[in-house]
Amino acid sequence: MQSLDRFDVIVVGGGHAGCEAAAASARVGAKTALITHRAETIGVMSCNPAIGGLGKGHLVREIDALDGLMGRAADMAGIQFRLLNRNKGPAVRGPRTQADRALYRFAIQGMLREQDGLTIVEGEVEDLIPDGKRVTGVVLADGRTLGCASVVLTTGTFLRGLIHIGETRIPAGRLAEAPALGLSATLERFGFVLGRLKTGTPARLDTRSIDWASLEMQAADEEPYFFSLMTDKVHARQIACGITRTTPGTHEIIRANLHKSAMYSGSIKGVGPRYCPSIEDKIVKFGDRDGHQIFLEPEGLDDISVYPNGVSTSLPEEVQAQIYATIPGLEKSVMLRPGYAIEYDHVDPRELDQSLETKRISGLFLAGQINGTTGYEEAGAQGLWAGLNAARRASGATSVTISRADSYLGVMIDDLTSNGVSEPYRMFTSRAEFRLSLRADNADARLTPLGERLGLIGRERSVKYRDVSTSLDEARVLACSLSATPTEAEAFGLKVNKDGQRRSAFNLLAYPEVNVISLSVIWPQLADIDAKTAERLEIEAQYHVYLQRQSASAAMLRREEERLIPSDMDFSDVSGISNELKQKLALRMPKSVSEAQKIDGMTPAALSLVLLSIRQRFKNQLRGAA
Ligand code: FAD
Repeated sequence: MQSLDRFDVIVVGGGHAGCEAAAASARVGAKTALITHRAETIGVMSCNPAIGGLGKGHLVREIDALDGLMGRAADMAGIQFRLLNRNKGPAVRGPRTQADRALYRFAIQGMLREQDGLTIVEGEVEDLIPDGKRVTGVVLADGRTLGCASVVLTTGTFLRGLIHIGETRIPAGRLAEAPALGLSATLERFGFVLGRLKTGTPARLDTRSIDWASLEMQAADEEPYFFSLMTDKVHARQIACGITRTTPGTHEIIRANLHKSAMYSGSIKGVGPRYCPSIEDKIVKFGDRDGHQIFLEPEGLDDISVYPNGVSTSLPEEVQAQIYATIPGLEKSVMLRPGYAIEYDHVDPRELDQSLETKRISGLFLAGQINGTTGYEEAGAQGLWAGLNAARRASGATSVTISRADSYLGVMIDDLTSNGVSEPYRMFTSRAEFRLSLRADNADARLTPLGERLGLIGRERSVKYRDVSTSLDEARVLACSLSATPTEAEAFGLKVNKDGQRRSAFNLLAYPEVNVISLSVIWPQLADIDAKTAERLEIEAQYHVYLQRQSASAAMLRREEERLIPSDMDFSDVSGISNELKQKLALRMPKSVSEAQKIDGMTPAALSLVLLSIRQRFKNQLRGAA
């Protein structure tokens, strides 16, 4: 064996988890190596060319608030910024951008190149070097060894990866990239419980063969909502995407060929993502619909490849071609490469503590798809946290955890390490019980001060954060200092209850149709507040009352957390909660209030109703006994 350098932290994998892990580790001062198969594939998007979305966009904003890479790279590569759920409350709005694949990769690679203390090593890690219950280094496939204090494994879909296209099976981590076989064996040797999951991707189509003129088009937002606090302008030309639908003819072909689909012929054992189903799944489960929507997303500004979002499949290539021939606008489309499904090993995330370190092997951290998650954003956020803790482990500092009450990152880590996964885990706003306070717009206020204490934040961001938060503080103080009686407010056209109470400008901002601009008619000094600060102030004011209620129920729940739930509790009797939640409660049969709290979709309000029902039941029992 040829021994190379020694590092504090070695990160294995140059995907979304690996890049954030390596950058975070180096940012806090650890001598870090990122080892990956090929340096040119660092930052590759394996599937859809887009970042963000509902719940996922919140994670990207949190990565950014901790000075991670993903938000800045997405802003540099964004070719169609859209704020999803724009008409709903700010807590559930999801920033999303379609990204130019090449620009995204270059942006990530550029930031890593500029990161002090980080070395990129090309190679495949085949084994880990243990010393008792501690990891001390890695062995590469070519025989080289590297020593270290901590390792972060971020191997994505590569562990025993197996691609399925109809009956064809190809061992691979992604199309045309070899799988990682050695590390699965290493993990099994250490006693880790491995599971098998699957995901899929659609074919890529040649843009020149699509009849764009016949399609409905969706443009980018006029005012882009960026992911990074550091971004102030659009970098790339904005484009429109096409929209089409499957037809009854498409469904007929899929039904007739189901036996050829790797998934339905029984050759795939792994479980797939419920919320990103294959087209076969959609037809089998929702066959009565007359069509399923497909977004046609160009993969880049100078790229002929188009991603048909919604047609992920493991059907044979010739059947895929027949399918496209039945879809309006795609009748003559040419496939550049077929869609496929991929199965891979993952580790049960209950093997990890909340710092993402494994409980079996000290110094070994796992992040990303290897933990049973799906998606770039989920991977990136875990990577950042694992990289930070790996660096702290290497320097002898204590590990740090992050609460569900403070971040989606905390929600995800708690969900994974407490509940494990039975299907690929993706983020939704419904998973966060404190989602009113965990908004995309306030990620910096929630996390940047913490990041500063942990040494994660660079000088430039600290300065920017101070500027932004000072402006917001000043605007809040001003808005709270100005007040009007109902009669005074009415004189300016504002409709408020005639209860004789003075209301501050901050309180008035909670009313529909009232904003900083409209209030500046009464108080001209408000017109000096810049547009971005004004928007944040308005959101804060709208949520103020709800947040007070949320913290009251959170405090009540904290007191009740340890209360046990009777083992024969009938959750169908709990009034006021959704049927979906009743089913989840019946399935999980939580033993305590704190267990019930972690069920996805649970809110403080719903939990209060469950508590009420438990209390009512005790009262009835006492009455019965008397
Ligand atoms: P990856 O991005 O997979 O990166 C893994 C990295 O590890 C690669 O750089 C690889 O070269 C490196 N590596 C692996 N093993 C070794 C080794 N032994 N030595 C050195 N380097 C190694 N997500 C969605 O949200 N929605 C989808 O619809 C979706 N569909 C997908 C379809 C396909 C076909 C694939 C492959 C992925 C899909 N994903 C989807 C998942 C998304 O791509 C991943 O969740 C995300 O990329 C995971 O990031 P990661 O960093 O964990 O791993």
